[in-house]
Amino acid sequence: MKIEFVDLKAQYLSIKDEINSCILNVFEKSSFVSGPFVKSFEENFARAHNVKYCVCVNSGTSALHIAMWALGIKEGDEVILPTFTFFATPEAVSLCGAKPVFVDIEEEYFNIDPELIEMAITPKTKAIIAVHLYGQPAQLDKIKAIAEKNNLLLIEDCAQAHLAEYKRKKVGSFGICGCFSFYPGKNLGAYGEGGAVLTNDSELYLKMLALRDHGSLKKYYHDYIGHNYRMEGIQGAILDVKLKYLNDWTEKRRKNAILYRKYLAEIKEVALPLEMPDTKHVYHLFVIRTPKRDELIKYLQDNGIFAGIHYPVPCHLQKAYRFLNYQQGQFPISERYANCVLSLPMFPELTEAQIQFVFQKVKEFFNSL
Ligand SMILES: *Cc1c(COP(=O)(O)O)cnc(C)c1O
Repeated sequence: MKIEFVDLKAQYLSIKDEINSCILNVFEKSSFVSGPFVKSFEENFARAHNVKYCVCVNSGTSALHIAMWALGIKEGDEVILPTFTFFATPEAVSLCGAKPVFVDIEEEYFNIDPELIEMAITPKTKAIIAVHLYGQPAQLDKIKAIAEKNNLLLIEDCAQAHLAEYKRKKVGSFGICGCFSFYPGKNLGAYGEGGAVLTNDSELYLKMLALRDHGSLKKYYHDYIGHNYRMEGIQGAILDVKLKYLNDWTEKRRKNAILYRKYLAEIKEVALPLEMPDTKHVYHLFVIRTPKRDELIKYLQDNGIFAGIHYPVPCHLQKAYRFLNYQQGQFPISERYANCVLSLPMFPELTEAQIQFVFQKVKEFFNSL
């Protein structure tokens, strides 16, 4: 048996006719950039998260960048964020000319530790980015309270958390805005690159609309120096088709997580991910921990199972951020997890037989030690 890490083809085959005809429709209407397909998806995606406005852009990285840029984050400012995240999160801060200030994560849930945020605040701090890593919301009540008390902007990185909920409310509207990615492997994936920012703030919305299209709201009249961050029509049309299935796909991910737990529970050498009470985890990734991570990943691969590591190096230890002078040992939980996390195959179409096969191979591996 061969098990992909994410089986994009299985999902395509399940909605093939609808996707093919929607692509032909874009060709017929020749609305290749922005336009009605993107607009329709923006309205539907905002509604799905109970948020007023959505601005689609050409990647999740652009979403983070345009949000902070439109909020006026600039050189001399500091932005607090977890070091255990995908590199795009701090990268977007740097693209604005500001300084990422890293903090460690909580041991239980892999997300930014609210207790550590206040210590990192300085007179230069402008914002906090809460990353909902692996599809599980961060501690939004505590983080929001800290942001409000210190007059800081709260930005959510929801790139892995489409439709995730914190206390029965969808992520993306707890702060001033929520940034999403539609990279093909994400819970809602385009057939190419894509991203979006959700917000309830009309001023921020208009500024982002302009910045993504050369600082212009009216063709050839430019109010700001912006960029070309527009989404392609094909991606908007495909995302609009796929959005209808997202609830169902999310439930399937959650069901797969339950199955993984059921089988893996007997393997004492494996630490399973914890779910935070009162949140809806959408399982972008199912991440286990073992000190034998590197050997296990190789064993699985030799048996046709493709697992991943998210992420092998915390951001503060990346070469690109050497100039910030962080030290090894400064964020012990992130550094420890970077060496022991392993993401098992996770996608809605995964079958119980496949999950059972993964379990058997994990068990075989530990029995062989
Ligand atoms: C994927 C991802 C991004 C960047 O999104 P792209 O669409 O790949 O640019 C940002 N933050 C996190 C946490 C991500 O997982």
